Amino acid sequence: MRNYEKSAASFAEAKQVIPGGVNSPVRAFKSVDMEPVFIERGKGSRVYDVDGNEYIDYVGSWGPLILGHAHPAVVEAVQEMAAKGTSFGAPTEIETKLAKLVTERIPSIEVVRMVNSGTEATMSALRLARAYTKRNKILKFEGCYHGHSDSLLIKAGSGVATLGLPDSPGVPENTGQNTLTVPYNDLDSLRIAFQKFGHDIAAVIIEPVAGNMGVVPPEPGFLEGVRKITSHYGALLIFDEVMTGFRVDYHSAQGLYGITPDLTTLGKVIGGGLPVGAYGGRREIMEWVAPAGPVYQAGTLSGNPLAMAAGYTTLTHMTPEAYDALNRQAARLEEGLRQNFEEAGIPYHINRVGSMVCAFFTGEKVVNYETACKSDLKKFARYFKLMMDQGISIAPSQFEGMFVSTAHSDEDIDRTLEANREALKQL
Ligand code: PMP
Repeated sequence: MRNYEKSAASFAEAKQVIPGGVNSPVRAFKSVDMEPVFIERGKGSRVYDVDGNEYIDYVGSWGPLILGHAHPAVVEAVQEMAAKGTSFGAPTEIETKLAKLVTERIPSIEVVRMVNSGTEATMSALRLARAYTKRNKILKFEGCYHGHSDSLLIKAGSGVATLGLPDSPGVPENTGQNTLTVPYNDLDSLRIAFQKFGHDIAAVIIEPVAGNMGVVPPEPGFLEGVRKITSHYGALLIFDEVMTGFRVDYHSAQGLYGITPDLTTLGKVIGGGLPVGAYGGRREIMEWVAPAGPVYQAGTLSGNPLAMAAGYTTLTHMTPEAYDALNRQAARLEEGLRQNFEEAGIPYHINRVGSMVCAFFTGEKVVNYETACKSDLKKFARYFKLMMDQGISIAPSQFEGMFVSTAHSDEDIDRTLEANREALKQL
């Protein structure tokens, strides 16, 4: 049995001065009925907790660490930049360098604004869409999470779903009235919503691969349909690629599926593990943003040089060949998990897109939030603990996938599959 004594003491101390002891709710391990482990350091595919336990890590800071922990090139880039100064509140050349790289790899983004989190990116993209279209309503899909701004914290998946909160107190009712929701992968419902409210819908915001209700890929034709309907009604299509951006493909999800959105939001991987978000799109729309245009949005630390350096270095390491190798590794993991579930005779459904892999504890195909919720959450909680005890760190939620990084070796995957086989046996 592993010892978690120091983590327990750290958690007790943290709870005295931090709400629930954590700075983001899912970290508290509440939904798996455990106490969190406190992490001391990470290196490559591994993290180490304060009690000295080692884990092969598939959380990767919830997505950003596509190169693994403390990648030497990223560490060096951040150190070099920090030595010159951590923030100036003035333009720096590294901001343009990263912006250029983003526009090269995601051609629908002609102009991009850096912010500090995914939440800021989606919130700002919505303001821009509302200003540009002169319309009020937005439409999102049930189980998609787009950060915690008021108008998006409605049927919002992951953390919220995990806590079983349909919504959050503090979000005004009339804010909710401007947010329409329909099920993911359901074009008929989308059509009905547009028939009813189409001329007041400023934008549809969507995770092109849903990553906050486990991993749920778009069904063939779904994204094409969303694109067609939004174009028909003059609503903007916003791809929220905070999770999928530079994660599922060299050109992100929009490249993988060949769909061109009007606006895209980014975060996670483009910050290489430092706080970052971004939103961008067609020049004609983005030039509505201040100071080029009238839509106000600002940030003391936006385009922070350390974050830009970490993001730039991460992206330059993620060559097309690196994505191929990463996806092959994730495919091995997927295959092994399938075999193990089959052998154990436990009902399961596995979805994978690129290096995002999710094993649901349900025998039904998972295509939307309703089907994701058929998962046996009690079984997942027991499974989670069995994996932790064997030194495998996965997200403490059935509604989040595993993130494979370029640091995961063949041996890491083999060890993970052994632990998975053992855990399934014990369930
Ligand atoms: N959009 C998506 C698709 C996300 O997955 C997340 C975070 N999990 C966000 C937005 C919010 O990003 P942040 O946590 O950086 O505010």
